[in-house]
Amino acid sequence: MKSVGQAKRQLPNKFVEQLYDYFPPLLADQILLGYTSQRCPTLRVNTLKADIREIMDELKENNIKFDRVLWYQDALIIKNATEQQLCNLTAYKQGKIYLQSLSSMLPPLILKPKAENIVLDLAAAPGGKTSQMAAMMNNKGKIIAVEINQIRYQRLQYNLNKQGVRNVKTFCADGSRFGKIYPNSFDKVLVDAPCSGEGLFLLTDRSSYRSWHQKLITNSLKIQRRLLTSAVLAAKPGGQILYSTCTINPAENESIIDQVLAKFPGQLELTKIKLQIPGSLPGLTTVNNTELHPTLANSLRIIPSQNYEGFYCCLLTKLSATN
Ligand code: SAM
Repeated sequence: MKSVGQAKRQLPNKFVEQLYDYFPPLLADQILLGYTSQRCPTLRVNTLKADIREIMDELKENNIKFDRVLWYQDALIIKNATEQQLCNLTAYKQGKIYLQSLSSMLPPLILKPKAENIVLDLAAAPGGKTSQMAAMMNNKGKIIAVEINQIRYQRLQYNLNKQGVRNVKTFCADGSRFGKIYPNSFDKVLVDAPCSGEGLFLLTDRSSYRSWHQKLITNSLKIQRRLLTSAVLAAKPGGQILYSTCTINPAENESIIDQVLAKFPGQLELTKIKLQIPGSLPGLTTVNNTELHPTLANSLRIIPSQNYEGFYCCLLTKLSATN
């Protein structure tokens, strides 16, 4: 059983130092403990091709045990099979299930795209959330999905095709330009931003934290600011923007939101996230002794644990047109 002490020794010193600067000691300990867990594989049923009953039957036939998820009827936690074994299932080969972490299923559930909506996904590959939104919209309405990286863009196209998604138009392009090209246009905008990945660390997988570096955070901050600004410009008045990351770093989360609130004074409102996720916390309203906008408490933090990757979600409503 790995301990907090071992996490402190194994993870980059600078990261551990920052963790205890940002968070009270007990919470920092809890985060480190979360990195010592072995997470079970999780999957989402692709409701464009299958329903949960059919998938549970196939799992039972293959002696694969699973748990349901209280807050999402289409998610399953797999108890006794690896991701590799799940990839051998017929359901996987036919695109009826998608392997996706529980935390990463949250942004579409919070954004709630509807069948008649026009949706923009500004950082889309490999397409987990794009395809989840397409399923929630029953392949109706329209999703514009943007990905800058050519190889990841191909993966996005492959995954959408495999899952029978037909309401998405993809672009291999820089999402930060879309706000100016399509101002005040979209009902819902998702920014699942590139980040330092601090929510994904696992002590058992050196590759999850080996490339962590202060420079990675500095670079991510620039892209996060640009993508979120683009999202705000692209949303319709009355439209909603969901900003998410798989990092626990407040600089990449609450501080980015605070900066965009200051950039568009009076034009954005933080909408309270009502989903009840075990072990989740409200967003921070103070970072390193700096007071942030008090409504940041309406955003949602997920602390890394046995079932969850560390994650952050913030839902913004655009109150008036931008120019
Ligand atoms: N939403 C995806 C999913 O659920 O499968 C995961 C997105 S991942 C966290 C962030 C993605 O943003 C990466 O694929 C990265 O290549 C892409 N990206 C980075 N900068 C971008 C930009 N300026 N415009 C569009 N995509 C960008």
